[in-house]
Amino acid sequence: METKYLMERLATKYESFYLYDEQSIITQINTLKKKFPSVDFLYSVKCNSNENILSSIFKNNFGAGVSSLAEIQAVKKYGLHPEKIFYSAPGKSMKDLQASYQQAVIIADSISEIERIKYLAKVLNEQIRIGIKINPNFTYENDGGVPSKFGIDEDDAVRYLATLDELYVKVVGMQANIKSQELDCSKINRYYKKVFQLAEKIELTIGHKLDFLNLGSGIGIPCSPDDRDVNVSWLGTEVEERITNFKINRPKIKIMIMLGRFIVGKSGTYITHVIDKKTSHGKTYVILQNIVNGFFKPVFSEWMKKSEPQNRIDMEPFFTKVNSFEIHPLKPQNENETVTLVGNSCMPNDVIAEDIDMPKLRIGDVITISNAGSYSSVLTPMQFSSMGKVQEIFFTVDGEVRENPS
Ligand SMILES: *Cc1c(COP(=O)(O)O)cnc(C)c1O
Repeated sequence: METKYLMERLATKYESFYLYDEQSIITQINTLKKKFPSVDFLYSVKCNSNENILSSIFKNNFGAGVSSLAEIQAVKKYGLHPEKIFYSAPGKSMKDLQASYQQAVIIADSISEIERIKYLAKVLNEQIRIGIKINPNFTYENDGGVPSKFGIDEDDAVRYLATLDELYVKVVGMQANIKSQELDCSKINRYYKKVFQLAEKIELTIGHKLDFLNLGSGIGIPCSPDDRDVNVSWLGTEVEERITNFKINRPKIKIMIMLGRFIVGKSGTYITHVIDKKTSHGKTYVILQNIVNGFFKPVFSEWMKKSEPQNRIDMEPFFTKVNSFEIHPLKPQNENETVTLVGNSCMPNDVIAEDIDMPKLRIGDVITISNAGSYSSVLTPMQFSSMGKVQEIFFTVDGEVRENPS
């Protein structure tokens, strides 16, 4: 495999690094475009904000889902029109609102935030057009809402919007994402269907049609060996049919889906080295370069393995499932042994695998860890122990290796 040779070559230069394969990203983008031709997709920047990744995705006409002012600045470099940048985050300050209202579409996350936008619009003496994020009266599993720090409860939104004078703030869009990493396409489909119905209810309340509707996210990727791919062919057919019907009375509405991991999750591999090996009281330790401070997610996954199962829910995006990362030597030996893989930091629980059967490892061996494209580098405490930031390298579809941001 070509990338194996590349990994080997880069591993002679870097002690540890991420390698992103653009082909994997393009394949995912093309799948989405093909299966959902009427959907405008947004890339959720917080998932992986590497500049080469952003450039690759935005070249393909995706919009941006941003969660901070800094992310708005980051995506502007790729020439996105403000109407293609959607700023959704809980707790936006007056300063955030003031600095963003001309550069992105603000998705209001609370009633007091709408009031702040209204105040700002009055001061400016202009109308600000916004979207609102709703915390719906249903979930992927059931009818009935659940408490959330995100969005405005559906009933509160309806009550509030019924009396909102749109002179200063006009609600032109809606989104209702509440879940990540769903693998059951029928649950996603049922959820999206209810979001369409919710949009109609909001339109009736505000007295006019919406310009955009963000159905949410949810589409997951298989991580552990018992996971299966989401059936996007089936989901695409269902969603397209619903969009066709919805557009009969709303020919100009933009229907959006916002995704992070589906696009980049599988594109990344983390590559590191064995730097030491020792035994202690009968246990064999293999010490790897930059683990807790290089790729945190597999470490967190090991911690979760030891915790109570009931505490394992809602730990996204730090934790998806146990056994979600494949760990292999780049050049496996025939003989196996039982080892514990740890990082070289001064943290006792810097462990990515305990007592696992692995091909025998030697000092200097190169190790690869899979599923390192989403919430990986961005969620790793790289300042810990002052060990420095781990490199991120981008392998383009044209075979170019970009060792620095473009
Ligand atoms: C982070 C985020 C996403 C992306 O989730 P993925 O599981 O990575 O696809 C989508 N929508 C919102 C509102 C988010 O905050």
